[in-house]
Amino acid sequence: MLIIMKLESPRSDIDRVIAKIKEMNCTPHEIPGSSKLAIGITGNMQFIKEEDFQLLPSVSEVIRVTKKFKLVSREMKSDDTVITFDDSSIGGNVFQIIAGPCSVESYDQTFEIAHELKEMGIKFFRAGAYKPRSSPYSFQGLKEKGLEILSDIKSKLGLKIVTEVMNSNSISSIIEVADIIQIGARNMQNYSLLEEVGATKKPIFLKRGMSATVEDLLLSAEYIASQNNFNIILCERGIRTFETSTRNTLDLNSIPVIKQWSHLPVFVDPSHGVGIWDKVPPMALASIAAGADGLMIEVHNNPSNALSDGYQSLTPKRFRELLKKINDICSIVDKDFYYEK
Ligand code: PEP
Ligand code: MN
Repeated sequence: MLIIMKLESPRSDIDRVIAKIKEMNCTPHEIPGSSKLAIGITGNMQFIKEEDFQLLPSVSEVIRVTKKFKLVSREMKSDDTVITFDDSSIGGNVFQIIAGPCSVESYDQTFEIAHELKEMGIKFFRAGAYKPRSSPYSFQGLKEKGLEILSDIKSKLGLKIVTEVMNSNSISSIIEVADIIQIGARNMQNYSLLEEVGATKKPIFLKRGMSATVEDLLLSAEYIASQNNFNIILCERGIRTFETSTRNTLDLNSIPVIKQWSHLPVFVDPSHGVGIWDKVPPMALASIAAGADGLMIEVHNNPSNALSDGYQSLTPKRFRELLKKINDICSIVDKDFYYEK
């Protein structure tokens, strides 16, 4: 349920609504960044009626949210969520790119790629220190050592870091370095982990599970939002289908659906979605046309010797060529995109 309050409501009236929600053993959420003054209610709504709030001072409207997910729904907040960082933002009218190698492999490899990306105007650098791999015998990431390298990249190059957390043990060290915490496809339904990262109040990059529906993805985002953390970026990264010619099937249908159902920004990761480097640029461009707010793209300086996901990685040169085309499509769909020409 959503309580819409008059814009000029005194704080005492807002507090009265909040107290009433708590009295009914439910949780109030002041919805940030909305053009309306809105308070969402979550919890067991069985005994709550619209009339309980309609007559309270300053309440202008009470709306029942019909979707299973509440806080992340467009019904709860009609304006797009925009996540702001010191010199950049994600969501709204801006088109943003997160790029970097699949894994932190060494100091030199990570720095070389980060340096090239920075020169192209990229602000968000991705690289995994902890890697979820399908085989226990594959490279599992440099772990703490990888985080140290990312921390150096952050302080020396001023890039914002996006890196994955795989379990609660590493959250405290990852939040020291990460500007955005990535939850990978395999952990999308790890609900206790979602609550824990939500509670850190850091922006969360939530990837769609490989057999998750759009509703499942939004319900997972709801776990994060239920911790009063609305800084969530959703990511379509392809799902498992009967098709075997590509690594996954990039479900671009999900983009306009999510944009209609949720106020959260949506990214596409065509690198994992397709899994083959030369198919990444066309799917990246298609993602923009479908309405994505940004792209996550794997870039490696030496793809054939990469320790993970080399085959789907673009070289810096190919990535630079793609940026020009991204710029062209962004101007057609009226998104603001910045890169160093
Ligand atoms: C990754 O981003 O490198 C990754 C492991 O992605 P996903 O969780 O989508 O497989
Ligand atoms: Mn990868």
